[in-house]
Amino acid sequence: MATSSGPSVGERATTAETLRAEVVSIGDELTTGQRLDTNSQWISRELGVLGVPVAFHTTITDSLDDGIAAFRIAAERAEIIVVTGGLGPTADDLTRDVLARVAGVPLDLSAAALADVEARFARRAVPCPESNRRQALFPRGSRIIANPEGTAPGIDLDLPRTSSAGNARVFALPGVPGEMRTMWQATVGPAILAMLPGAGTIRFRRIKCFGAGESAIEAMLPDLVRRGREPLVGITAHEATITLRIAARGRDLAACEAAIAPTEAVIRECLGGIVYGTEDDEVEDAALAALATAGATLATVEVGSLGQIAGLLAAAAARGPEGRFRGGVVLPAIAAGITVTELARQRRADSGATHALAIGPIVPVAEAIGESVGGVTMVEIVLAGPDGITRREHRLGGAGTVRLARASKTAIDLVRTTLVPPAGDGLPRGATR
Ligand code: AMP
Ligand code: MG
Repeated sequence: MATSSGPSVGERATTAETLRAEVVSIGDELTTGQRLDTNSQWISRELGVLGVPVAFHTTITDSLDDGIAAFRIAAERAEIIVVTGGLGPTADDLTRDVLARVAGVPLDLSAAALADVEARFARRAVPCPESNRRQALFPRGSRIIANPEGTAPGIDLDLPRTSSAGNARVFALPGVPGEMRTMWQATVGPAILAMLPGAGTIRFRRIKCFGAGESAIEAMLPDLVRRGREPLVGITAHEATITLRIAARGRDLAACEAAIAPTEAVIRECLGGIVYGTEDDEVEDAALAALATAGATLATVEVGSLGQIAGLLAAAAARGPEGRFRGGVVLPAIAAGITVTELARQRRADSGATHALAIGPIVPVAEAIGESVGGVTMVEIVLAGPDGITRREHRLGGAGTVRLARASKTAIDLVRTTLVPPAGDGLPRGATR
């Protein structure tokens, strides 16, 4: 590992360009390759959105000595150090000890944090194990980062530099990705933003899209996905769902919201019915919401999609509108001579739901969706409802699991687009279907 010691905060002008970050991941499961370090990727992207370059990624074992060595180096070469892992209650969770040693301070018990940890256990009616009390220990002089989702609070601490004047600021978060992300969004991201010149706050808005590819969507947006734009618009794809993320800076949240609104309006106008929701919405949430609005219900029948459609809808029903999803049937094959349309009709009659969604392979009929014809998977998706049949043929590319997710989501999205006819001609500007 290089031990280059850059100029200190004191020497450097504190601009977003010259403040540099190091991302540190702690855990034997990472260094041994048992688990992929996804936290560093996520945090680095977030730092990028804030305009803070990440100069180093460091991964270390659950060892006191290695941890101390790594943080001594990090403190000399980065102004911001974001750490995940090692904040749990067990003997191998050493991050708090490492930070206290490098800062040269003792660990103090925080009465407030202890009360919080104990209250969490009390709510679940289980006694608080002695080991969990460790999570209420903080290096003297540090600030506590609240953890709304777990027992391990984070630590915000200044580490003194030996090579020069000034400090490096450490933000230590738990390794559990969901907790880490929540704490970043609530506390760490805004705190880092406040370190930058012209400090204010930052607000994100995610617009969720389905029904067109990443590059097609980018092409429909007039120069929105451009670096340096204010507010910044980022685009990411995950299993055929496209997320547009608007990041707006402003002096307060109201200013951020005001900056986001016109960009969001342009996106919605350009993409039309491709936009199905916001934030954590999935296509299945949008489908259930459309059913609820229409006073309709849905049953499903699947051939070749491994029950994914039923699985997604059941999970969405558990977190969203009740009573809309009436259950799914998963068949190993379609009986000879039966079409997907007939499957849908039959399922609708059997279930008593207002709508039935069926998916199945087209050619040859008995083959699973995993099979492909000429490298392209052909599936037929049919929605049977009181107004008749909506039928789509889909040629799905991509590899194994992605293809399956794409097929399932395409089917589910047919429910939304059929029940909620989009305004105008139903097509986004410049799109062809
Ligand atoms: P810890 O905070 O070290 O107790 O980690 C809690 C859990 O989060 C571990 O069991 C890991 O599976 C997971 N985890 C820790 N660090 C990372 C990381 N860098 N990327 C993804 N998952 C992680
Ligand atoms: Mg760990």
